[in-house]
Amino acid sequence: MDRTTVAIIGAGFAGLAAARALRSRGVAVLVLEAADRVGGRALTVRSAAGTPVDLGGQWIGHDHARMTALATEFGMTLFPTHTDGTTLILDGDRRLRLMPLTVAAAGLALIRLELMARTATGASLDRVTVADWVNRVPGRRARRLLDVILSEALAIDLDQVSVLALTTGIRSAGGLRVMLGIAGGAQQSLLSGGAGALASALAADIGTAVHLSRPATVITRTAGGVRIDTPAGPVGAARVIVTAPAPIAARIRHNPPLPAERQLAQRHTVMGTIYKAVAVYDVPFWRDRGLSGEIVALDGPVPAVFDISPPGGPGHLGVLVPGRAARELDRLTPPARRDAILHTLARHLGPQATNPRSWHEKSWHHDPHIGGGYSALPTPGFLAAITDAAAPTGPIHWAGTETAPRWTGYFEGAVRSGERAAREVIAALA
Ligand SMILES: Cc1cc2nc3c(=O)[nH]c(=O)nc-3n(C[C@H](O)[C@H](O)[C@H](O)COP(=O)(O)OP(=O)(O)OC[C@H]3O[C@@H](n4cnc5c(N)ncnc54)[C@H](O)[C@@H]3O)c2cc1C
Repeated sequence: MDRTTVAIIGAGFAGLAAARALRSRGVAVLVLEAADRVGGRALTVRSAAGTPVDLGGQWIGHDHARMTALATEFGMTLFPTHTDGTTLILDGDRRLRLMPLTVAAAGLALIRLELMARTATGASLDRVTVADWVNRVPGRRARRLLDVILSEALAIDLDQVSVLALTTGIRSAGGLRVMLGIAGGAQQSLLSGGAGALASALAADIGTAVHLSRPATVITRTAGGVRIDTPAGPVGAARVIVTAPAPIAARIRHNPPLPAERQLAQRHTVMGTIYKAVAVYDVPFWRDRGLSGEIVALDGPVPAVFDISPPGGPGHLGVLVPGRAARELDRLTPPARRDAILHTLARHLGPQATNPRSWHEKSWHHDPHIGGGYSALPTPGFLAAITDAAAPTGPIHWAGTETAPRWTGYFEGAVRSGERAAREVIAALA
């Protein structure tokens, strides 16, 4: 049996941050990762132009202090997300101007939501789905615009999530403006080498204590701590930190079974559904037409597009397709999906869009170890019942972005949760 002081399940940002925090205090760790790579929901691949392409999380928000500090420590720089030029808000091929009724009505509804996030906490909001709430907004186009904006923000069908879960997420991000914003918001910057590369750098720093392709299957609470079963043999530890999101952590069996409230949290949260694609072009050609590259489309296969090009580098266009729209794309073959998306981009940004230098895509809801993204969300009616996602269960500590009160669902929340769990463990071992 492998023995260590603290076993950590999952080598995403939460697990890696926990491992580094513990090692810096001289505590022995062993990180068990089910996949054959580190990073979890962060994954950087290389484009044909040699540039890093983030297929998972990518943006660093304006006050993501821990992620910024880690990037700096590992010699990475942040660069601002490109915003110059006209953003297209489209209904079919028709451009909606910024002032007309549709945009104003959707804007008013978002202001109401911002106010609700500041004040409303009632359990009654947990029984109202975001879809129900959107359906009460006057104007078909305004409703459709809200549907696109909120689906992009949450990456889940809006009838699967409650208003309370949404307002809790908004509060955790410091407000809706921050959550949806680029400059001064959650989408302010990108990482020079890619978010997945930062995760790899953290893992390299931890070294041989990270075991890939070694899923935890059973956790047994013993007199001396825990025993964790894996296909490559058991691991004994004084404490374990589980960083997999609740619906995925639910696959691990527990001996004795987990307390009822913890099982409730695992059963009544679901991973979001998100497809991401990045098309890489020799140059960001859309900028010559005065376009920012950002698109919000009320219909068609591509609800949202962003310019995520590195400074002075080739043009990178990122496409994020959440929920139902992502499942519709799943039905196409990869070449048909690529064609559908690129032809849509070409209609709005120019014919060069059909001819990228390289093309990268990932359906996170099909990843066997992650199960979806951006994050796990409570199903309507259960948020109030899931009281403290971070409370330890004896020697089992819970981390992962979903357990973070601030920046839940983001890298920043993941790192903070890992470091919080490390502090808990150090206190428990003292
Ligand atoms: C498409 C997409 C876009 C996103 N965009 C952004 C963004 O721009 N900015 C931002 O801040 N955030 C973004 N996010 C969210 C961000 O990626 C996550 O919040 C963060 O990466 C979560 O880190 P984590 O360590 O909590 O969980 P994870 O990264 O999910 O790590 C958990 C790890 O546990 C492993 N695991 C699961 N089960 C087991 C087991 N039984 N045994 C061992 N290992 C196991 C998994 O393989 C995984 O590696 C995005 C996510 C996605 C999918």
